[in-house]
Amino acid sequence: MSTPAIGAIALRDGAMLPRTGFGVFLVAPADTAAAVAAALEAGYRAVDTAAAYRNELEVGEAVRASGLAREELFLTTKCFNTDHGFEEARRACHESLERLDVGYIDLYLIHWPVPAQDRYVETWRAFMALQDEGLVRSIGVSNFLPAHLERLVAETGEAPVVNQVELHPRFPQADLRRVHAALGIATTAWSPLARGALLDDPVIGAIAGEHGRSPAQVVLRWHRQLGNAVVVKSVTPARIRENLGVLDFELTGEQVEAISGLDTATRIGPDPETFYLPPQPH
Ligand code: NDP
Repeated sequence: MSTPAIGAIALRDGAMLPRTGFGVFLVAPADTAAAVAAALEAGYRAVDTAAAYRNELEVGEAVRASGLAREELFLTTKCFNTDHGFEEARRACHESLERLDVGYIDLYLIHWPVPAQDRYVETWRAFMALQDEGLVRSIGVSNFLPAHLERLVAETGEAPVVNQVELHPRFPQADLRRVHAALGIATTAWSPLARGALLDDPVIGAIAGEHGRSPAQVVLRWHRQLGNAVVVKSVTPARIRENLGVLDFELTGEQVEAISGLDTATRIGPDPETFYLPPQPH
């Protein structure tokens, strides 16, 4: 459960998804425990990692060191593209559980659909079994396009409770959000700040000036007013705190529209239809 101030979205399975989570993509393992500790100290109660980020171990360490009760925290991790398949996904989940060492996973996501592999339905069946066994509380997906979501429902009868996707003012995903609403899927935005690329945008700057807020706070508030959850990353303690400061002001409808109007239909991340990325030697 999230702290009341952060708020939460009620998922179809009864779980509560904190509206703001702390993301640790591209946080080096050596820096992860300190970043997660700073986030928990600032008031975050949700952490978003993935097997592919190679820092689950350090996330688990920081969580255990925090002294917070397990039920107060919401931990998300993801099954990577190389682990699609019924047995493979089950093994990957057990390995994540071992690295995290926090008892259970709150939300387990299929990281990418990898349509060329054509194994995401089988992977989803493994996720349903993992949930039945109580190893993961909620099951969802990431980077799924409408056709992938509809196929899961058609072939298994069960929609994910969450789709975590690239979403920011340059790529607001209005059509996908409509599909989510129709299927009862909560939307989580990854790279909610477009990795910082739009923070010097003059439209956002002007709105930030009107509210006496930072550009990042305005963008995160825009997400909240669209109904999204976000996972936002920073290794800078002042920014980690700043990114939670979105509760005590409200954008007007016109301001929300102006920010949505920054849509350039361009992703900063990969195309889910083709992304695979084989494991890197290291
Ligand atoms: P974000 O949009 O969260 O941007 C992070 C960048 O913005 C960092 O460079 C950070 O700098 C900077 N930043 C953060 N806060 C501020 C602020 N208040 N003012 C100015 N700059 C700021 O992008 P990410 O790509 O990191 O995405 C966030 C999370 O989403 C990831 O960590 C991961 O958990 C998830 N994700 C999921 C994916 C998926 O496929 N499911 C793919 C990509 C991301 P600094 O750290 O130096 O402070």
